Amino acid sequence: MNTEQSPSPYRQSAHDPIPEHDAVRDGRFVRIPAEDGRLPDRCILCNAPADFYRKHQKVRRGRTLPLAILDPDDSNHTCLIEVPLCPSHRRRDALGSSLTYGGYVVLVAAMLFMIAGWLWPMIGGLGLGLVLMLVGGALRVVVRPVQVSHDSVWIRACQPFMSSIPAAEDL
Ligand SMILES: [Zn+2]
Repeated sequence: MNTEQSPSPYRQSAHDPIPEHDAVRDGRFVRIPAEDGRLPDRCILCNAPADFYRKHQKVRRGRTLPLAILDPDDSNHTCLIEVPLCPSHRRRDALGSSLTYGGYVVLVAAMLFMIAGWLWPMIGGLGLGLVLMLVGGALRVVVRPVQVSHDSVWIRACQPFMSSIPAAEDL
């Protein structure tokens, strides 16, 4: 797993185009270890250089429903994946997050208009809030793993990204 732990894992040598990673191609998906899995320094959406940028995303490990309800926030059942994104997909993601947040604020305002009994501002706020949330949601980059097991996470990536990593069966 992690044999060398540099103080700042994303500040590796600029001469190294693809820093060490442990992603493998597994069928149509990319598989990384659930603990400290490292993806190549390439945008998973377009394969452009990610310049060491990683979007941190928490994912849930597979488990049965009653357990999920009993302890929803047990850290044993979640893991963090670090998703490389190029500058343009990073901007798209940031814009999407802002629009989603704006939509949320507008929806809250619409609720207040409803309480105040202002019909038209409420309808306007509801419509605008929903549109902002829909557009924001479409722009945001949210990686939903295809599968999460106890020790691995499977995600989707673009074809050039897939071609650049070794196939699981070749290792
Ligand atoms: Zn990209």
